[in-house]
Amino acid sequence: MDDADITERLSETIAKANRYQSRKDEPQGVANGQCWFCGEDVEPGRRWCSKQCCDDWQIETN
Ligand SMILES: [Zn+2]
Repeated sequence: MDDADITERLSETIAKANRYQSRKDEPQGVANGQCWFCGEDVEPGRRWCSKQCCDDWQIETN
């Protein structure tokens, strides 16, 4: 493997990391007191009001 190969592999890895990052970014992993999917009030620290909303949200954002 020469330097060109290493550079190639590195930029590929960075591109993958960036894609992963931008997908994760959506509503920035913070619980805001409301269900991310339906907007119901939820307990502090929770992001969805129910497992169902969690699942639906994941389906919609993936
Ligand atoms: Zn909900």
